[in-house]
Amino acid sequence: MKVKTVKTLIDELIKTHVLPRDAFKTLLTGMTPDDRRYLTQKAQEVRRAVYGNDVYIRGLIEFTNYCKNDCLYCGIRRSNRNADRYRLTKEQILDCCRQGYALGFRTFVLQGGEDPFFDDEKIAAIVRAIKAEFPDCAVTLSIGEKSFESYQAFFKAGADRYLLRHETANSAHYQQLHPPQLSLENRMRCLRDLKSIGYQTGCGFMVGSPFQTTDTIIDDLLFLHDFQPEMVGIGPFIPHKNTPFRDRPAGTLQMTLTLLSIIRLILPRVLLPATTALGTIDPTGREQGILAGANVVMPNLSPQNVRSKYLLYNDKICTGDEAAESLSHLKQQMEGIGYRIVESRGDFKKGSNEVCMTSIQ
Ligand code: SAH
Repeated sequence: MKVKTVKTLIDELIKTHVLPRDAFKTLLTGMTPDDRRYLTQKAQEVRRAVYGNDVYIRGLIEFTNYCKNDCLYCGIRRSNRNADRYRLTKEQILDCCRQGYALGFRTFVLQGGEDPFFDDEKIAAIVRAIKAEFPDCAVTLSIGEKSFESYQAFFKAGADRYLLRHETANSAHYQQLHPPQLSLENRMRCLRDLKSIGYQTGCGFMVGSPFQTTDTIIDDLLFLHDFQPEMVGIGPFIPHKNTPFRDRPAGTLQMTLTLLSIIRLILPRVLLPATTALGTIDPTGREQGILAGANVVMPNLSPQNVRSKYLLYNDKICTGDEAAESLSHLKQQMEGIGYRIVESRGDFKKGSNEVCMTSIQ
């Protein structure tokens, strides 16, 4: 049998949005610099066919760094006694939204550790208050594993989207990254619940997490194809000095960019952020992410005095820039590479996965 070239596999992925395991393996391990350029170009074409030059922005509000979990990779894990813990009040959160709204943000992402202080009623009240004051904005929650009833209560309160990275689709690998109380099974249950309730649902994983292999990455890619999420968050793993993974190497820029492009071809319409972690391992990481097929960036709207405390990993970028300053900088960066930041909710564009094939073939 004739061995298929990498370019043929990329063309096949554009058409069918999935590949057999061994073909994914070739893509992940056998690409020449020329193949890589081809992949990037195709991912960019698909992204343009769906979203044009638009880059969506999300205002990220890290509202608590208390966490009851003990994920081995995470800097705000419960057993990190050195973390300086904080919580924002509802009023502080609303102030972040007000600032963000004035700057043009129309999506607010509330992210935090799994903090029992914020029970369902408190979260629902915060969501209701944001939606009452900013009815034209979307609210995204990223607060971990909850029951079906909790997710439903937040949805009824007005939450539109939910980010819950699956972290790895391989259950043995999942156990290597998490304490025994957590399981891939429950993570997947949460993701299915979120989708069935009607959230635009986001999953995702770290690139280069400890014990990750090409095979576990293929598990992730096959899961993405199967689950059809509206959003996918991926970024390089970066060690944190007060975690068991302190001495592990960080994920690479190149692998993250390759995966962003592959994910764009698997899910042409997906909302795909160039993440903070990508911007942390390389000063031009976020631009390179957009050029690899990402279409979302999530600048930080958290108050200055808490930013340095939400440390998931070492050297997380939390510049002294005011939100306004950092946004105008970001606008310039995006214009510099031929893209533009738009002032809109930036919802998932529903439709078929066959995107204007004529324009890209
Ligand atoms: N408690 C929420 C939010 C977690 S923080 C939840 O469970 O969903 C958001 C994401 O940051 C995590 O899902 C994880 O993938 C990522 N993250 C955590 N520690 C990290 C590290 N050391 N390097 C890179 N990303 C990390």
